[in-house]
This record gives sequence, structure tokens and C-alpha cells, in this order.
Amino acid sequence: MSNKILLVEDSTAVLRTMQRILENDGFEVECAVSMQEVKHILQQGNDFLACVLDYCLPDAPDGEALSLVLNQQIPTIVLTARSDMETREKVLLQPVVDYVPKDSPAAFDYTIKMVRRIKANPGIRVLVVDDSATARGYLRQLLRRHRYEVLEAGDADTALRMLRDDPSIRLVLSDHDMPGKSGVVMVNEIRRFRSQEELAIIGISGSQDPTMTARFIKSGADDYLNKPFNHEEFTCRVTRNIEFVENLCALSRAANEDPLTALPNRRYFFENAMKQTQPFGVAMIDIDHFKSINDRYGHDTGDLALKLLADLLRAHFPGQLIARFGGEEFVILLEAEHEQSMLPALETFREQVAQMIYPTTQGDLQFTLSIGVAAGQHDISALLKLADDRLYRAKGLGRNRVCSS
Ligand code: GH3
Ligand code: MG
Ligand code: MG
Repeated sequence: MSNKILLVEDSTAVLRTMQRILENDGFEVECAVSMQEVKHILQQGNDFLACVLDYCLPDAPDGEALSLVLNQQIPTIVLTARSDMETREKVLLQPVVDYVPKDSPAAFDYTIKMVRRIKANPGIRVLVVDDSATARGYLRQLLRRHRYEVLEAGDADTALRMLRDDPSIRLVLSDHDMPGKSGVVMVNEIRRFRSQEELAIIGISGSQDPTMTARFIKSGADDYLNKPFNHEEFTCRVTRNIEFVENLCALSRAANEDPLTALPNRRYFFENAMKQTQPFGVAMIDIDHFKSINDRYGHDTGDLALKLLADLLRAHFPGQLIARFGGEEFVILLEAEHEQSMLPALETFREQVAQMIYPTTQGDLQFTLSIGVAAGQHDISALLKLADDRLYRAKGLGRNRVCSS
């Protein structure tokens, strides 16, 4: 996807500040100071991710440049020095992403936040639930303007089915009054299988009932919009709720994932191993003489070896719980009644790793693994202790081997 931003602003001070902020964030910025320049740039082609546009330009004092970029389907955030109601309304009547009065330093932060959203939103699924096709269409075009991926359901049961089938949906916008199940009842049901960490829900209703907001929120919704709402309020609430889910996801990732290899960490392993109902075994895998890899090739190459091993583990044991326990030690949880059934796959893996050669700038890198295996008990801590003892036996016997007793 393009990373290019068209920045249109006639004030040099604002232009330079905005350009620096966007470039620091990794965006490529093309600047224009007049409508004439915008025309010229667009004649050369248009592969812009978004446009940040000053409403009032010397050769386009009344927002004429806005129509020009909107006609090219470029998602546009409008900056304006005029925070009067008349300009605001004129801007918001057009299909802009957002409107930012540039009368405070916070305007820069807000603008960059919205640009980042335009980049991130195409990967985010939003489900609109409403029995009225017109209402769904209205929400869809607002969300599409922000580049969200929009799914629709005409009733609560369809929505529930879609949510069960697709755990990647991050936001639900739902009406209350629908034939069949109401929005509030549906929200209650959604919360039985999808937490607030995974999915945000905003209730929407035109009802005059003053208890509506509380009913939605007490059922598990995160927010509520009263119809009719304006585009600005809609944008603020949708953005805030999406950010909330993203922040919770990031926190949960930080708590459960090893940042170097992106494998689950020890904590996550224990939590999930406890839920195991089938007979299982564990394999504890440790790189041999890893310290000498660091000493000889440097810490960065050591890191690379850890990432390589993580990728190999994922490829060889797909769908299994694999964790980095710390340092150069990894653990796999495998369905098994006894050690013997785990050995063939682990032996093959050990051999393949031992035969691989990784070219690095400091010469070819090769390493071997020692593996301790244990199965046949339900207590995960006892199994890990046994596997660890066997791993150290493998080390003692000369390394590059699997020990199951
Ligand atoms: P053995 O065959 O007995 O397992 O010897 P070893 O050298 O592999 O084991 P030892 O425990 O003596 O050393 C492990 C080394 O791993 C020491 C530590 O600096 C290094 N290490 C731990 N975590 C990381 C990491 O994230 N990246 C890198 N590059 N090195 C790490
Ligand atoms: Mg080691
Ligand atoms: Mg070690």
C-alpha cells in the first residue's frame, strides 16, 4: 500500500511542522502550497494514501481544492484556521475523513493520529447490524471513508453467526430495535463468547428512551450513539473504541509473547497447558553451546539463530503450543500418551537442524540441539521438571541428542 501523503498548506510554518511529523512517522510527503500545485501534482498521477489539506488557500479561498482531491477519491483530513460553525458545516457536508481546527498544538497530534488510522484501517473489520438497509448503507459509507473493511448483518442472529465464524471482527455497530432479537439482547449474547479485549461494541438508536445508553452498556457495549449523530462525533467514538481494542491487544501480546521470536512465552505456555484435556507430553529443547555462537559471531547473529529456530519449530510442529521459555530454551507441548510416540518427529527435527548451514557475514553458522522429553503425567510442572532432567542428561551424554529416560 502507498505510504504517500499529499500535504497542502500555504503557511510555511505549519507546512514544515506537519511535514516533519509525518516523515518522522515513516510517511513519504509531497507538499503543495496552492491549488495550482495540487492540480499539477495530481496530473502526474495519484497514488496517495491520504491528503492533509488546508481548507483556505490563496488561489482557493473557499475550499475549492477540497473538491479537487475528493474527486480523486483521496481520503482527506481538512485543516482549517477558521473554527467557525459555517466552515465546519461546509466541510463536514463533504465526504472528508475528518476536520481539524489548527488553532492548537494538539491539532498536529490529532492529524497524525488520523493519518495513521487511514493506513491501519483497511485491515480492520467492522460489523454493522441494522434491519434497515438505508441505515446500514449510511454507516457503511461513513466507515468506508475511513477505509475500514465493512461487513453487514440485517438481524441479530445473522450477526451472532458472523461473529462466531470470524474472530477477526474488531468492532460492532448495532441498532437496538430490530425484528427478532433486539440489539441489547444480542450484545449480551456476544459477550458470552467475545471479550472487550477482542471486540468493541457501540450501540446506536434513535429511541427517546432515556435508559437506552445504560441498557446497552450494562449488556456489555462499550459506547452508545444517539441518532441522529454528526459525522465528527461518529468518527471520534469509532476511533476511540478501535484504539481501545488495539491497546488491549498490544498489552495482551506484551504479556504473552516473546518479543524476539514472537512465540508464546512461559506465562502463556503454563496458562494454556493447564487447559489441555488430551494426554500430552513436553519436549524441552536447548541449543548446544549457544554461548559460543554469541562469542564467535556476535549477539545479533545469536538473536538470528533464535529466530531461525523459532521459525523451524513453527514449520515442523504446526498447530502445537510452542513457547520460548527463556534464553535458548524452547518447549513444545505435543499430544502423546508416552514418550516413544513423540520421538520420531523430534529425532527428525534434531537431525534437520544439525544439518542446516546458515550463511552469515562472519562465515557459516551451524548449531545442534539437545532435547529432553517427558509424557504420561497430568501435572505440567512435574513433566517439565522431568523433561529438564532429561535435557541435562542429553547434554551430559555429549549433546545433539534426544533423551526420553
Ligand atoms: P549448553 O550447550 O550447555 O546449553 O551451553 P550454552 O552455551 O548453550 O548455555 P549457557 O546457558 O552457558 O549460555 C546460554 C547463553 O545464551 C548465555 C546468554 O548470554 C545467551 N542468551 C540468552 N538469551 C539470549 C538472547 O536473547 N539473545 C542472544 N543472542 N543470546 C542470549
Ligand atoms: Mg544451551
Ligand atoms: Mg542454557
